[in-house]
Amino acid sequence: MSRSISHHPVLRRQAAVAQRRGELANPACEIGPGQDCRHPLVDESLNAELHRYETIISQRFLLIEAALKKISAIQHDDSFVQKAQDICQAMLGYCLPEDKLASAWVNGLDMPDLHAYCVFQSLVLSVQKANEDRAIWLKNLPLSSPVLRDMGYHTVNISPCADGRLQGLLPFILRISPAPEISVKAFAGARFDIEDDIADWTQAELQRLANEPGYDASLNYLKCVVYHFSSSSPCVEGCAAHGSDDGMAIDCAIEGLSALQAAIRNLYGLGAEPDGLVLGVDTDTDALRVHLPDGSGTVRAHQFLDSAQLFAETLPLGRVQAEQVLIDRVRAAASNPDANTVALAIGLLRANFSQLQYVIEHHNGRYTDVGHDEKFICAGEAVASLHLRNKYYFAHLSTVEEGAADLDVGIKIFTSLNLSRGLAIPILVHFFFDARVSGARQRAEQRCHRVKQAIQTRYQALHERHQIRCFLAVSDIGGTENVTPVPSSYSVSVH
Ligand SMILES: [Zn+2]
Repeated sequence: MSRSISHHPVLRRQAAVAQRRGELANPACEIGPGQDCRHPLVDESLNAELHRYETIISQRFLLIEAALKKISAIQHDDSFVQKAQDICQAMLGYCLPEDKLASAWVNGLDMPDLHAYCVFQSLVLSVQKANEDRAIWLKNLPLSSPVLRDMGYHTVNISPCADGRLQGLLPFILRISPAPEISVKAFAGARFDIEDDIADWTQAELQRLANEPGYDASLNYLKCVVYHFSSSSPCVEGCAAHGSDDGMAIDCAIEGLSALQAAIRNLYGLGAEPDGLVLGVDTDTDALRVHLPDGSGTVRAHQFLDSAQLFAETLPLGRVQAEQVLIDRVRAAASNPDANTVALAIGLLRANFSQLQYVIEHHNGRYTDVGHDEKFICAGEAVASLHLRNKYYFAHLSTVEEGAADLDVGIKIFTSLNLSRGLAIPILVHFFFDARVSGARQRAEQRCHRVKQAIQTRYQALHERHQIRCFLAVSDIGGTENVTPVPSSYSVSVH
């Protein structure tokens, strides 16, 4: 590769040194001789619960190809339809549409169509069972809304990259409990929309003024921007939206945060701006970088606390000692110690230790799929109840025009993942509506149709070759309806 690892000299030097030592092929932390392989600050029972969840969700998607291969092999047998349904029900937990099977003896099965159908069906099944599946771990995540409130934050707005390897960000990497006060809107390259974010901030502050008894002015809004990189393959498997240039990914996160804070300061006065935090995730190991602001409040690309490094340093220690070292390191790194930021950094790093241990125990310290392995693209608004690495590529958008760059990256990823193997690209078009607002549901459904139409127009050649399959769905933001198929959309029903 002719591309440099990064245009930041410090990052480039660090990566070069690591590469010379051969560290990049190793797990986030190797357990040395005589060391206990359990980190003292790790929540093992939570890790076991999350692993059960990962297994349940993964199986729903992993078994699709195996089931379809079995079905394909018997498509000319007598009683094929019944045999196919039995296989699908046993392996995936749902049936296939009869009409897609009944004509197999004449034209053969349309495998790309069945594959896309199964991806959507597994998604719907996962959403329908989300409460049951997530109940295993939902109450035990360390960074819940009340905990974050105690740290000084009434709302947390997170903008990660849309990359599917960050889809497990909240419960796995950050160990933050999903809640209405915590929002995640992903954009390719973490390039979030400043105007949209100003609107989100305004809405959150207004809601607090209108609805919160005993308004607490000491609490603030936290804006968190999350970039990512790949320590195994820095020039290839980093952030696609930044051409795998880590320096560009970091600069973009820092500049976006700084621009948002300046905008809100200019609009509403000094001190109105949200608190900010830039985080980096190594998508190979789920290690976390926490960039604390320096004395002048500036976040710098090469100044960060590295959870993998702190994990290794505190591994041999007892619980109390390890906790103290972590606190000391964070306080030493925070040249302008703000109690909220320090508490948050300690909380995030401690929580991420559990994720490092998780990846060490369940993925040999480094994911085997360091690259993309998403199952579908989600265009519109994210599915709030599905959290797992590499399940979907997310393009946050209201219209295809504004999300074109994100969608293009997604189509490029799926050209390699699916089209190269003869499969279609499954695209979920999903928007929320608020049932308390008259007509909101119909408007969300109409938006789904408009986005589907625009996708088919933008990728006309793929559409004409039936290489794109869209599934339209809406969810009630305050209710129990989740990913309900839009009538006349791709037919998905779970039996
Ligand atoms: Zn990215």
